[in-house]
Amino acid sequence: MRRRIAVVGAGPAGLTFARVLHRHDHPVTVLERDAAADARPPGGTLDLHEGLGQRALAKAGLLAEFQVLSRPEGQAMRILDVDGTVLRDWRPRPDERANPEIDRGQLRDLLLGPLDVRWGHGVTRAAPGSGGGTAVHFADGREETFDLVVGADGAWSRVRPAVSPVTPRYTGVTMVESSLDDVDARHPDLARLVGDGSVAVHGVNRALVAQRNSGGHVKVYAQFRAPLDRHTRVGPADVEAVRSELLTLFEGWAPHVLDLLRHGTAFARHPLHALPASHTWAHVPGVTLLGDAAHLMPPLGAGANLAMLEAAELAESVAAGPEDLDESVRAFEQRMWARAGRWAQITTAGLERLVSPDPREALALFDRVQPS
Ligand SMILES: Cc1cc2nc3c(=O)[nH]c(=O)nc-3n(C[C@H](O)[C@H](O)[C@H](O)COP(=O)(O)OP(=O)(O)OC[C@H]3O[C@@H](n4cnc5c(N)ncnc54)[C@H](O)[C@@H]3O)c2cc1C
Repeated sequence: MRRRIAVVGAGPAGLTFARVLHRHDHPVTVLERDAAADARPPGGTLDLHEGLGQRALAKAGLLAEFQVLSRPEGQAMRILDVDGTVLRDWRPRPDERANPEIDRGQLRDLLLGPLDVRWGHGVTRAAPGSGGGTAVHFADGREETFDLVVGADGAWSRVRPAVSPVTPRYTGVTMVESSLDDVDARHPDLARLVGDGSVAVHGVNRALVAQRNSGGHVKVYAQFRAPLDRHTRVGPADVEAVRSELLTLFEGWAPHVLDLLRHGTAFARHPLHALPASHTWAHVPGVTLLGDAAHLMPPLGAGANLAMLEAAELAESVAAGPEDLDESVRAFEQRMWARAGRWAQITTAGLERLVSPDPREALALFDRVQPS
């Protein structure tokens, strides 16, 4: 008998889970709060690791399509000091496929493919019942029961309280995101600065990172240590106020680096939060978590990768149709916790070094992880 499975959230975790089940002809209900796939900007580029995100796409039968869409040249990385001196200029070999980049919107559309998502279905909570099955409660007051509810609803998950009382904590680092469009034609100097991939500039307790997306779009991330409440006064809509606040924070940096902020548009503030590095819970039959809902960590290139691989693995074990669905979810959780715990420690330590009182820490980290 086929189990009734629901996944809450159509991000990388939820869509990978649903797509792998779909490949195995197993029905799944995808519940997403957004009104449509393009209801909000999809965000910046993601690098998908060979052993994580790319493995998940292989399990979904989508690796070949990913290879057509992705940008191996986007792995290029340049590091500058605050005076604008180039300290490292790493470029991938033409055949390097370890971590190619893909726009989030392209990844979403690739995963969506034939999936039937129930858009505009905001979930308020999941309530596991004593007789098996978990009720999903919707924002409009309705509810529906499933044999398994998978919470893939991100950092501020509404499913998570069904298994764990833990909530994300502020890391001490805030990120303000901005964008540049049509950079090759409109800002050729910045296009050269960013190159095919990313440029990162590290100062004292501050960093500025710019990443090329497809179509001449560049995302700029200003990161700095600040109290959580210090930067809530200015709303993201107040572009000039945010710009001037950032230019003050990064004062003294090379003018051509600061042009990334001077020409940026659409500022969005992300105070970086994380769950504890070893976030586990006493298993609750009928409900589990995937991705950021389970293990939100600093954004150092692992979150979407982990979310996708664990989603694909859970989907495969559900589709394999064991007698005891609950037993396979329980085993999956153990594997997820072990792997995510290791990455949470790596990314937490990484954030400390990338936005650090000593900018040499960031360079040392780059030299340690970057293949040469
Ligand atoms: C600036 C930045 C850069 C990053 N770069 C990388 C990178 O290069 N590589 C990498 O691997 N990771 C990266 N990450 C991390 C990555 O974005 C996340 O780990 C990843 O998106 C997690 O996927 P998810 O599906 O678990 O959650 P999400 O992507 O957050 O998706 C959750 C989905 O659930 C929906 N939802 C939320 N609440 C509800 C609700 N109540 N009811 C119904 N639906 C709901 C949301 O609308 C959303 O569609 C980055 C993060 C940031 C902030």
